[in-house]
Parts: sequence; C-alpha cells; structure tokens
Amino acid sequence: MKIAILSRNKRLYSTNSLYEAALRRGHEVKVIDYLRCYMNIASHRPTIYLGEEELSGYDAIIPRIGASNTTFGTAVVRQFEMMNVFSVNESVAISRSRDKLRSLQLLARRGVGLPVTAFANDTKATSELIKICGGAPVVIKLLEGTQGVGVVLAETNKAAESVIEAFRGLDADIMVQEFIKEAGGADIRCLVVGGKVVAAMKRQGKEGEFRSNLHRGGSAQVVRITPEERSTAVRAAKIMGLNVAGVDLLRSNHGPVIMEVNSSPGLEGIEKATGKDVAGTIISFIEKNAKSSSTRTKGK
Ligand code: ADP
Ligand code: GLU
Repeated sequence: MKIAILSRNKRLYSTNSLYEAALRRGHEVKVIDYLRCYMNIASHRPTIYLGEEELSGYDAIIPRIGASNTTFGTAVVRQFEMMNVFSVNESVAISRSRDKLRSLQLLARRGVGLPVTAFANDTKATSELIKICGGAPVVIKLLEGTQGVGVVLAETNKAAESVIEAFRGLDADIMVQEFIKEAGGADIRCLVVGGKVVAAMKRQGKEGEFRSNLHRGGSAQVVRITPEERSTAVRAAKIMGLNVAGVDLLRSNHGPVIMEVNSSPGLEGIEKATGKDVAGTIISFIEKNAKSSSTRTKGK
C-alpha cells in the first residue's frame, strides 16, 4: 500500500516509529509536512500538491496534526478524504477531539464517567462555579494549556476564587473540576486502536505533584487495567469517532473518569513503558480497513 504520514517532522519519535513500522510491513510510505501542502479547494477534482508534486495514488493517510495547526491540518485531511483516501482518524473526529468543551459534552451525553466539571469564560459568578463542583478542593484549568501548564489545584474556596479571578479577562475558557484526590497524582493512558485497548500505562506525578504529566517530571509504567476501564476507554474513542486515540482517565471512587481523548497520541512513552509495537498495530489496522471511500464523513 501507499501510505502518507501527515507530520511536520520526520524525526519525531511517533512519526519515525510509524514510518519504520510501515516500511517493515512492506509498504511505500512518505512523511508529508502538511503545512507545506496546498490545494485547489474549488475544483471539481480535488487535488493536493506539495511543491511541484501532485499527491496522488495514496491508499491511506495517518494524520499527526499538531494542536496549534488544527484548522489547516484538518483541511488537508478533508481534502484527502474528498479524494477517497482512507484516513486513520477522520477530519471531523480530529476537530471534535480538539474542542474540549464539545468533547466533554459529547461524552457526558452518552453517560461516560467524567469528573464534575464547570465551564466558563468571563463570569463573575465565581463562587457558583466552585459550588457546582462541590466546593474546594477543585482543579482549575486554562483551556489553552497543554502538558499540565495552566492546571492548578486550589485547596480552599478562597484560593479557588483568587485563581479564577486571575484567569478571568485573559479571554480564555476556564474549566473548574472536582479534584479526584484518590487518583493519587496518577492517571492511566489507554491507547485505543480499532476499538481495542492495545497498550496501557500508568503515569505517576513526582512526589508532591498532583499532575501526572511526564513533562512535569512524572514517570510511566505498564499497568493492568480493569474491564470497566477498558470498556470506558473504548467507548470514549468510539463516541469521539476516533480509530486511534489516547484516552486519559483517572481512577476515582465512582469508577474511571475521563480526562481527555487525544487524536494524535504520542507513541514514545507508551511503546517504551509497555514494550508493545503500537505503531505496528496501527499499520495493521490500516491494512485491514483502508478501502477507497471507506472514510465515513468526508469532513461533513
Ligand atoms: P493537560 O491536558 O495540560 O495535560 P490535564 O487536564 O490532563 O492537562 O491535567 C494534567 C494532569 O493533572 C492530569 O493528567 C492529572 O494527573 C491531573 N488532574 C487534572 N485534572 C484533575 C482532577 N480533576 N483531579 C485530579 N487530578 C487531576
Ligand atoms: N459534520 C458533523 C456536523 O457538522 C459533525 C458532528 C459532530 O462532530 O458532532 O453535523
């Protein structure tokens, strides 16, 4: 098969891992910097170019779109979909997963476990927001943040009010959440491929840190997940419409609760922690499912 990986950088671990896995399995594979693609979106015959070259003849694409390039990146994915090329994750599902409010609403609507969560932008109803989440301790998040930056634990209502007030007026969306203390500074990352959890790891924050992000000094180890955790992760990926997803959950007293569903999960941490060939599993999923026109939404 002819496979394109849409990624800005060949040398990123995940991109390289997918590239090598595709080669090993005998495919023709190319890494394409999607920001350098251009397309005639008004043409009857959808096409995409990279430099002088028209990109054609691909059986499948693997989008690895960076969060800050979601709009243009998903437009490139959509164009491939219109050309009947199979996309491992569809453009609509990627856009959906990048919108945290929309994602949590979709998951809540289908009864997936979530921490009690309030959303706001520029409200003066600070104490009501905190009350919705059952009062302090609460976790306050700036939605623009990644890798745990802008995620604050407020131990008292007073502290929570000060943080929310400080965030207010930044023109950013704010999320206030019940603090899942019993998670003990750990979360579980489940890597879902084609409706199955193919690898899972537990990330533990460093001593005294409630955030488990590896970028914040957390460490990862392989973990056995419960059947309930497994089915929650699979359902979350399915609701988001993602064939490949990194589902983050916390172990709470009321069962697994979803933190986030990621459409371009990093492979380094999970492959190293579990010794599983996740990239190979993704390529094998493509082999079984990449039929022309089998992308369902084509961006609609
Ligand atoms: P980011 O997307 O920036 O990583 P998260 O929302 O995933 O931010 O939060 C970072 C980490 O903080 C999580 O992985 C988790 O360990 C911890 N955390 C976040 N929200 C809560 C919560 N409501 N209760 C307990 N821990 C939390
Ligand atoms: N293309 C669909 C719509 O706009 C997306 C629906 C969704 O993501 O919820 O209706």
